[in-house]
Amino acid sequence: MVRSFSHAKTGTLPPRSSGRWEGIEVLARTEIVSVQGRSGANVRLVVRTPVAERTVEGSDVMVAAGRTPNTAGIGLELAGIELDPRGYVKVNDRLETAVPNVWALGEGTGSPQFTHVSLDDFRIIRDNLAGGNRTTRDRLIPSCLFTDP
Ligand SMILES: Cc1cc2nc3c(=O)[nH]c(=O)nc-3n(C[C@H](O)[C@H](O)[C@H](O)COP(=O)(O)OP(=O)(O)OC[C@H]3O[C@@H](n4cnc5c(N)ncnc54)[C@H](O)[C@@H]3O)c2cc1C
Repeated sequence: MVRSFSHAKTGTLPPRSSGRWEGIEVLARTEIVSVQGRSGANVRLVVRTPVAERTVEGSDVMVAAGRTPNTAGIGLELAGIELDPRGYVKVNDRLETAVPNVWALGEGTGSPQFTHVSLDDFRIIRDNLAGGNRTTRDRLIPSCLFTDP
């Protein structure tokens, strides 16, 4: 990742996230104005913080662009499967779609984006197919972040 970037990260973070921790500077509410150089060699970013424009220099740029559901153009509408405005398959809390006997699970339904959640979605559908009545309501979802530094 970033080898010598004067330890700066930029992005849309809550204002209270600005600061410096263990040598990493976080710039919240900051826009990138321009990028010069080549990631992997030398990069110079001009950024606009709420306070001023400044320059950040380093070796690499890491872009965290987020994820979108891969549900477009595969004919779901032909089967009557409904999507929400963001493209996720609409399900109820038993993970049933709008079409009887068609179920959906995992990230494509907008479930929290963790492996263990998709696995638990599977367990819910498996048990419901066997006559159970399990739901996604009130389930506990562990999450943690490992970082060095
Ligand atoms: C870089 C990265 C790191 C991650 N790290 C963690 C982590 O540390 N811990 C954690 O819990 N989660 C992590 N996740 C999230 C985790 O990988 C996902 O939440 C999990 O894989 C979601 O499972 P899923 O079954 O819903 O979807 P996926 O695992 O994405 O499975 C969907 C499957 O559907 C297939 N597919 C797509 N379109 C079609 C189609 N039209 N026809 C047929 N098949 C299709 C795909 O090829 C894929 O195999 C990470 C994700 C990423 C990207």
